[in-house]
Amino acid sequence: MTRTALAPKFTGAGTIEFADHEYPDPGPGQLLLAVQANALCGTDRHQYYDGSSVVPGHEAAGTVLQTGDGTTTPVGTRGAVFLMDFCGECRSCKYDATNQCLAKRADMGFTQDGGYGPYELVHESNFFPITDDIEIGNATMLLDVMGTSSHALGRAALVRQDVESVYIAGAGPIGLGLTVMSKLKYDVPVYISDFSRWRLEFAESFGAIPLLADDLTAAGHPDLAFDASGKESARRAALDILSPRGALICVGHGESVTLDVSGDLISPERAVLGSEYFRYDEMPGNLALLQDHQELIGRVISHRFPVADIAEAFRLFMAGETGKVVVTQDGAS
Ligand SMILES: [Zn+2]
Ligand SMILES: [Zn+2]
Repeated sequence: MTRTALAPKFTGAGTIEFADHEYPDPGPGQLLLAVQANALCGTDRHQYYDGSSVVPGHEAAGTVLQTGDGTTTPVGTRGAVFLMDFCGECRSCKYDATNQCLAKRADMGFTQDGGYGPYELVHESNFFPITDDIEIGNATMLLDVMGTSSHALGRAALVRQDVESVYIAGAGPIGLGLTVMSKLKYDVPVYISDFSRWRLEFAESFGAIPLLADDLTAAGHPDLAFDASGKESARRAALDILSPRGALICVGHGESVTLDVSGDLISPERAVLGSEYFRYDEMPGNLALLQDHQELIGRVISHRFPVADIAEAFRLFMAGETGKVVVTQDGAS
């Protein structure tokens, strides 16, 4: 039975309309979810302005409504959707590097329908069940906010263990996630820079030390720097203050950076690493952290809107004075 339901349609130029959308039954290995929450993300910007042939939304949480052949997840299970529909068979997946799958079937919300609609069809393998104590909107924090940030911290730990201070460029949603996760992992000063005073004040409420982006003097020489801004100037400024043996981890997509290999890398033995999303097998650890710190991490969500008001949610989010914004729905049947 194919379900037809109203779903947000991103038609481009910042316009979101509602139109009938068809959702087929789950096939072998698949689950049909009733979506209950989806967090807005800066990456949605492209679909918001350019339009999308699929229903966007890649930070979804909901409840299993119907199951396909060969699955074992019970109807009624609540959980979050891992963006990458990884194959489970390739060299990367066999090493649990599921964020680097060489044959992924889809990127949910980008190449296949995502979580702004009432339903989402997923493979059981990229659905992550949560526990009863996690509020469903907060479950979306397991994705870009906690997952992407803790993976970046893990990347940093590959090259630097003795950490006495951390610097984050960009106080948007990823920068906020990095702030919260850095404070939970390291009991050290965490500096954060942005041009927006609103964003800096919000980050400060999570324990970060705010810096206006054009003067990083107060940060001294941090051992780890994370770029969540995607800006060349921010990456360059981070490298210029990084301590010897320090690591710059680029998390935000965007511009380039030019390296003086001798001065930036060889002499001070610094590292520049990329960090892309996170591995599915990092989710249990983040769920345990969310169970212990749900009030703190839930506070990263500054606004919640019913999905009927998704256009207003995007308008506010794109204006830049928010933390994470989550749209919610009752859970279709
Ligand atoms: Zn995202
Ligand atoms: Zn794979």
